[in-house]
Amino acid sequence: MNAFQNALKQLKAAADTMPLDSTTLEILKNPDRIVEVSLPVRMDNGALKIFTGYRVQYSNARGPYKGGLRYHIKVDLNELKALALWMTMKCAVVGIPMGGAKGGITVDPKKLSAGELERLTRALARAMKDVFGPDRDVPAPDVNTTPKIMAWIMDEYSKIAGQSTPAVITGKPIAIGGSAGREAATGQGAYYVIEELAKKLKMQPKKTAVVIQGFGNVGYHMANLMHTAGYRVIGLSDSRGGIVDLRKIGMDPKNVMAQKKSRGMIGEMYCIGSVCDGTNYKAVSNEKLLETPCDILIPAALEHQITNKNVSRIKAKIVLELANGPTTPEADEKLRRRKIVVVPDILANAGGVTVSYFEWVQNKQGLYWTEAEVLQKLEPIMRQSFDAIWDRHLKYKTTLRVAAFILALERLQNSIKARL
Ligand code: NAD
Repeated sequence: MNAFQNALKQLKAAADTMPLDSTTLEILKNPDRIVEVSLPVRMDNGALKIFTGYRVQYSNARGPYKGGLRYHIKVDLNELKALALWMTMKCAVVGIPMGGAKGGITVDPKKLSAGELERLTRALARAMKDVFGPDRDVPAPDVNTTPKIMAWIMDEYSKIAGQSTPAVITGKPIAIGGSAGREAATGQGAYYVIEELAKKLKMQPKKTAVVIQGFGNVGYHMANLMHTAGYRVIGLSDSRGGIVDLRKIGMDPKNVMAQKKSRGMIGEMYCIGSVCDGTNYKAVSNEKLLETPCDILIPAALEHQITNKNVSRIKAKIVLELANGPTTPEADEKLRRRKIVVVPDILANAGGVTVSYFEWVQNKQGLYWTEAEVLQKLEPIMRQSFDAIWDRHLKYKTTLRVAAFILALERLQNSIKARL
């Protein structure tokens, strides 16, 4: 089963649980439009190389299409269709007036020089000049795309439009219209969700052990927030492996980051300043890290990490999905049977797209907010979305994932029917 078939399966599970109009379901089974473009790029050695770029515009029933651009050698249409469907659901879950999309280029950007990457990106912006647009389709960063790449797209689009158009893309550097608070937004949004879940399940931070896979933008911010709130962060990892606190006291992620910066890896020992302990802390592989006994397991790295192969060895009570699609549908079903609570990606990591939407709003009004203002606006959105999903979880006696899809589908149905 490919990624899009998996996503459709999730859609159907929700549609079968709730009263959903058949027109809405039929419309949402397919993307509105798929655009494929050919991108000739002059390489540094003088040769002309042709790349392929895609944009899947899934639904604009609730507002302009919104979703990231991925530069990866494995970018394929089924994956982009699935990600675009999830974006549609995610924007509806947090109730922002945006639709869903996803795009990308089949390329390994690490094999390009800075100049080649810029020419490729500008070629994409030109080829997509009638596809992207502040009121049409607003891309953002995703795997291997950066604020700098967003800046090139904004710049190229603005040149073609003949006017500064910052609202055509989000995730830009702050100097050209990016939003304060965007970097921490995904972790911060997830933290509000955890606070709400803690109230429902009567969890106490000091008694709660947390393991986080992925120590990048999302994982690091989340680790810091949880540590600061008193949760015991007992396991952390990045692509090179992880570290586990054998005494389960909890580590300060800032110390682990210092260790990563000085030694290039986070495993083997835990250091506070120059004092290191290699006895009570153990290096673990990424596979083993996921199997560490804990209360909350947070995959914050890649998709397809909890699968049929390892699901029986997951020893967490809660899985909080900060990565997109970290749990395969088969594993999800097994977690449900084992009564492990899964907080789905379309809620858990939706703080990111919510602040992207704030960036777009600020660009359109030409008035910029402080980080404190951004977080003040993010907080009620995340808490209310959690509550709305929890209500549906109880009402329909279903998982939080199906409940999140139900909430999204209710909102999409209202927007679709209002137009018919
Ligand atoms: P990032 O590139 O900053 O960090 C990724 C981290 O994962 C790095 O620490 C990397 O070393 C680690 N990693 C890679 N392979 C690994 C492996 N096999 N095992 C353990 N760790 C591994 O990326 P990010 O922005 O933090 O995004 C992480 C995930 O969150 C992605 O799935 C992304 O789609 C999702 N997400 C991000 C945002 C956002 O705002 N950045 C929003 C929504 C969802």
